[in-house]
Amino acid sequence: MNSISVNAYAKINLGLDVLRRRPDGYHDVSMIMQSLDLHDTITISKTDLKEITISTNLPYLPSNQDNLVYKAASLFFKTLGIEEGLTITLEKKIPVAAGLAGGSSDAAATLIGLNQLYHAGRSSEELKSLAVKIGADVPYCITLGTALSQGIGEVLSPLPPMPSCSILLVKPDISVSTKYVYEHLKLDASVSHPDIPAMIEALSRRDLYTLAKTMDNILQTVTIKEYPIISDIKDKMKELGALTALMSGSGPTVFGIYPNRNLAKKALAYFRLHQHYGKQVFLTNPYWPADPA
Ligand code: ATP
Repeated sequence: MNSISVNAYAKINLGLDVLRRRPDGYHDVSMIMQSLDLHDTITISKTDLKEITISTNLPYLPSNQDNLVYKAASLFFKTLGIEEGLTITLEKKIPVAAGLAGGSSDAAATLIGLNQLYHAGRSSEELKSLAVKIGADVPYCITLGTALSQGIGEVLSPLPPMPSCSILLVKPDISVSTKYVYEHLKLDASVSHPDIPAMIEALSRRDLYTLAKTMDNILQTVTIKEYPIISDIKDKMKELGALTALMSGSGPTVFGIYPNRNLAKKALAYFRLHQHYGKQVFLTNPYWPADPA
């Protein structure tokens, strides 16, 4: 085998709580992660040239060492002592800098793909310990599905799968700096924290309605003040039948949870027509890997 193609799935946060700031600058979090059936595709081919080259359909993305795909490939080679070359084609569908962990997922999929291409036999746990060197969300992107993510994001526990539903994504045309959001997050007594245990309880009962009622993201306390468009999208999604609507990660993408496909399709049509909310609009579903890594 000289070549392999792997999918890199987007994620949303059904719940996102920040517990404390750590002295090393990271934050301890408690997040409920859910992967989506929206993915990039990464094709990795062996080459005789002794270098890693990346090409992508998005001209504004780095195609050098700054691309997380490059970081993952060079880390994998270094760890295994491989000195070979690769050409990697990255077809992006996941919106960039959107709170959907696109780059982290590309890095995770690159590790999974290389493990197969080189018959390296690294376990999921071994891949996750490489993954955390690239970024806090990368270990989750190795396992995917519904999971509780703690620590800085690297302590993962599988959760009962999210009940099936349709998920509408709208990414407003703004850029939100993750650094800014975390720096401006107030963690004093005035802030109400999402009830992560209640969400886990609803997942255990496969109760989509209670899950939707309890879903919350503490980072919205910063972004909604700064970017009212996020609230406008949430309100419109709910008006169009979403059980709830929430910002994912540090934003700016907003997702709406629809209990049936027809409602979700109507909402999709609305947002496609009213592009001032955001030009990137997707209708998708939760995704669970058939064969978890
Ligand atoms: P997160 O949800 O983990 O905060 P995000 O969705 O907000 O991630 P990404 O799409 O992962 O953000 O990209 C953030 C930055 O990383 C971009 O500005 C981009 O230049 C850089 N980057 C490097 N490699 C990639 C990649 N493979 N895909 C997307 N962005 C990448």
